[in-house]
Order: sequence, then structure tokens, then C-alpha cells
Amino acid sequence: MQFDLRKFIATGTQPYHAEFPCDLSARDFAGARIEQPVTASFTAESDGDEVRMTLRAKALVHGECARCLDPVEREETVEAEWTAKERDLDDPDFELPLDEKGHLDVDEWLAQEFMFQIPTVLLCSADCPGLCPRCGKKRAECTCPPEEDKAAPVDARLAILKSLLN
Ligand SMILES: [Zn+2]
Ligand SMILES: [Zn+2]
Repeated sequence: MQFDLRKFIATGTQPYHAEFPCDLSARDFAGARIEQPVTASFTAESDGDEVRMTLRAKALVHGECARCLDPVEREETVEAEWTAKERDLDDPDFELPLDEKGHLDVDEWLAQEFMFQIPTVLLCSADCPGLCPRCGKKRAECTCPPEEDKAAPVDARLAILKSLLN
């Protein structure tokens, strides 16, 4: 959806509200995807001097556990609020996606907000044990014997530390 922000700042006396579908399935969110179309809610309100805009949407995010590579599905909600004044329209550092005519690309804004919202590291559960480095299976399914050789020297040093603490 495109929103004529320049026109709204100049003439928008009534609040504007729109619900619109947004397809973000072609985008990559640090490896995660939003496959189904999202229904977004956008409002703009002017107080004469500045325009306050809000953007809300909920999406089902599909990704992969960073430790065990299992599929992960989670719901993410975007609730963003932004104010804009006329001078922002010509400010190259203005952070919302505006074209040279002062049209706001609301789909692009929504994609940016989901980018902030979706964690770059997804986990199937906070205590996922991950994969065994030796056989590559999930740790719960792995039958490798415990690593005694490597563990021994650490234990010896820990024993010395312990005796010092005592
Ligand atoms: Zn996992
Ligand atoms: Zn193993």
C-alpha cells in the first residue's frame, strides 16, 4: 500500500484508517519467512503540525532452529508508531521508506518492522541441546559414548581449583 504522506500533512484533517493485505512471502528475514499474506492495520492522524502514524500486524513466522535445524513456527506482532512533519519529507535521513513525491511505502515499512521484530537466532526451545558434534544427530537421539579423554584434564584442574577454594 502507498500512502500519500505529503498530501496528508498538507490537507489531512480527518483521521485515515486502512486495513490492507500485504504479501511478504518473497522476503528473507535473516533466514526466516512469512509465507501467508499478512493483514496490516494502518492509521494516520494529524494534529495540525505533525502526523502520527501507527502500523500493526501479526504474522506467522517460519524458520529453522539455530541449534538442531528443526522447523520453528512462531507468531510475531508488529506495533509501530511514527510521527512526521513536513520537513521530514525532504530529509534524506528520514527512516521511513518515502519516495521523492512524499509517498510512504507502507508494505516496505511493515517489512522493516518485521525485520526488527524477528530474532536473528530462532530456537525450537530455549534449552534445545542441539546436535552432537561427532555423529551429527540430535543429542537426544545420539548414542556416542561420553567423551572421557577430553573431560579428564578439565576435571583435574577443577579439582585443584576446588581444593584452593576450600
Ligand atoms: Zn532445536
Ligand atoms: Zn553423537
